[in-house]
Amino acid sequence: MPASPIYKRVLLKLSGEALMGDDAFGINRATIERIVADIAEVVQLGTQLAVVIGGGNIFRGVAGGAAGMDRATADYMGMLGTMINALALQDAMRQTGIEARVQSALRMDQVAEPYIRPRAIHHLKAGKVVIFAAGTGNPFFTTDTAAALRGAEIGAEVVLKATRVDGVYSADPKRAPTASRYAMIRFDEAIQRNLQVMDATAFALCRDQKLPVRVFSINKTGALKRIMDGQDEGTLIHL
Ligand code: UDP
Repeated sequence: MPASPIYKRVLLKLSGEALMGDDAFGINRATIERIVADIAEVVQLGTQLAVVIGGGNIFRGVAGGAAGMDRATADYMGMLGTMINALALQDAMRQTGIEARVQSALRMDQVAEPYIRPRAIHHLKAGKVVIFAAGTGNPFFTTDTAAALRGAEIGAEVVLKATRVDGVYSADPKRAPTASRYAMIRFDEAIQRNLQVMDATAFALCRDQKLPVRVFSINKTGALKRIMDGQDEGTLIHL
């Protein structure tokens, strides 16, 4: 009998770049399948999982054309990029037998439900994964802020921020070989030490809402499951 997971409801923030694998931009099939396999393990434990997906991998492909554009227009393009990823993720989940629903912060009725908080919670309670697309729906924000916002709205116990590094380090581990990983660190200490966990708006929202953040590596197979088992994985930022 497997141990029960330490969290009942979590918000997973996946950057668009997590879906690229080693490609320069776009979606790498093997990478998305590996990430979905990791997500499936957590869903099978009975944890309610919502995902906020970024768009950096799509936006990179059009960045040349966006150069010189006004910021708000470029940001709407970025939000549309997250929708491409959300649909790919939903499809990959369905192929693995996970029921998933995309909810969009921008109206796109032919391809996704609009974001409706009670409906998102209803899906989660029914064991479906909810994928939040189009960030917050507003320019000048990031999908990290969308993760903090949606996490707070749905009453997630933690925001799991998937990155390429397996936690928050005392210094850049690539440049400082003696850098050590924090297993846990308080929000205030992370600010004092000027550690870059997520953008400042997202970070402030999590701290104000007393919503812990765990930074972990999406490239480490099984890391999500180990978090659910309460093992020492990544870095927990807490109050
Ligand atoms: N974006 C936005 N408002 C939001 C979320 C995202 O305008 O609430 C835009 C912004 O241009 C951003 C892009 O969408 O650069 C992609 O999001 P993000 O950079 O957060 O994606 P990630 O880096 O996680 O892949």
